[in-house]
Amino acid sequence: MTERPEVASCSAVDPDGVPRAPETLLVQRYDRPAPRYTSYPPVPCWGPVGPHAHAEALDGLTREPAPLGLYVHLPFCGERCWYCGCNVVIAPDRTVADDTIDAIEEEARVVSARLAPRPVASLHLGGGTPNFLAGPQLRRLFAALRGAFEFTAQTRVDVELDPRTLEPETIEVLASLGARRVSFGVQDLDPAVGAAIGRVMDGERVSECIRAARRAGIQGVNLDLMYGLPRQTPESVRRTLRTLLRERPDRFAVYGYAHVPDMRPQQRRLEPHGLPGAAARAELFHVVKETLVDAGYLPVGLDHFVVPSDDMARAVATRTLHRTFQGYTTHAATDLLGLGPSAISRLTLASGDRAGGVAYMQNAPADKVYRRHLAGGRLATERGFVAAPSDVARGCLIEDIMCHMAARVPEGWSGFEGEREALRPFEEDGLVMIEADRLEVTETGRFFVRQVARTFDRHTRPLVDRPEAAA
Ligand code: SF4
Repeated sequence: MTERPEVASCSAVDPDGVPRAPETLLVQRYDRPAPRYTSYPPVPCWGPVGPHAHAEALDGLTREPAPLGLYVHLPFCGERCWYCGCNVVIAPDRTVADDTIDAIEEEARVVSARLAPRPVASLHLGGGTPNFLAGPQLRRLFAALRGAFEFTAQTRVDVELDPRTLEPETIEVLASLGARRVSFGVQDLDPAVGAAIGRVMDGERVSECIRAARRAGIQGVNLDLMYGLPRQTPESVRRTLRTLLRERPDRFAVYGYAHVPDMRPQQRRLEPHGLPGAAARAELFHVVKETLVDAGYLPVGLDHFVVPSDDMARAVATRTLHRTFQGYTTHAATDLLGLGPSAISRLTLASGDRAGGVAYMQNAPADKVYRRHLAGGRLATERGFVAAPSDVARGCLIEDIMCHMAARVPEGWSGFEGEREALRPFEEDGLVMIEADRLEVTETGRFFVRQVARTFDRHTRPLVDRPEAAA
């Protein structure tokens, strides 16, 4: 049996006599790499899958007019931020994107030809930097999507934006195309942190972008922040938050930096600046949480904070919050179609011998390979997984834990005896409360919710100490 580090060896106060956050005291025991559970099984467990399996899964979807979600991955950026973990293409100018837009248009045509008519509930543009595209390119992309799929007045359009390069007319174009929520990638405003991660962000610039979005009629504003970066201190993080709070954004998404230099070699450029250890990361997150909760924001799931009037707060209250490859979402689409290089589809199989299962299908991540497949009129699928109904049920339980910090289990934990046993230390440390048919994650346990969810994961357990398992 592996010996666990003793929590009692941690001091409850730091060397300056300031009380430490409860999360900081427990990280030695629980902070291990774990999936973010945007799917179950998580991406590292998937294997090679080709276009034929993808086409078969599309043919097995419901013939009902059930809502559909669309995700379009636009991988282009003008330059690479050193901390970046995304699939990006560094492009010298915008014309580089033209061929990929052609390929996305072809993919939309090939995919939609296999579907029954269904309304699009949501469209999310991610990247990369969607505002790398010029106005005419965005219009062409939307025209292609509207030509292939059934958009309605209720279709919700969300777009990720980089405030450093956002042009005023781009926000106007996006608003005219139906964008109602934007997500600005801020990460941190401290100049020393910005210099260490290759992304210097100006607070006044972010404020201007938020105001421009609201003037254009885009009411939902999310800011993406990151903790665990070199040179971040509790005080620098508080300063960043105080500046951003002046504009009262609707949501903050606060992600932990994942250092995986074997997969993303440019991340090595952060190392000379020193990366905070697990306890320091927990302390930084605690500062974020304390500051935002004091400012009236509600914690949602693992890493979101929202104003009480936000859709996401309502989704928590009505237990309609979901978790997809875009993170937490209020959109309840039966199937999610991913278009573009590296994009992932989640397809609920309604017919055929795999009915009741879910197929995950991921496109080739390399832009050139993706375009080559589509130029030949075929889907660009490279990896995936077809989850059996038993996996789907387990995935729902894990999604409940990740979204609602609680889940129902069969009475007496029947069939989950191993999981019950694995959760005993979490219970003893006050991270979960366990009843005869229910599990609840406590407020202290929220920081460790991925580890709680992992106890129900049949696929990942042997992989959790591999860095890619953190994806
Ligand atoms: S802008 Fe975003 S996607 Fe592009 S390199 Fe920077 S972090 Fe990565």
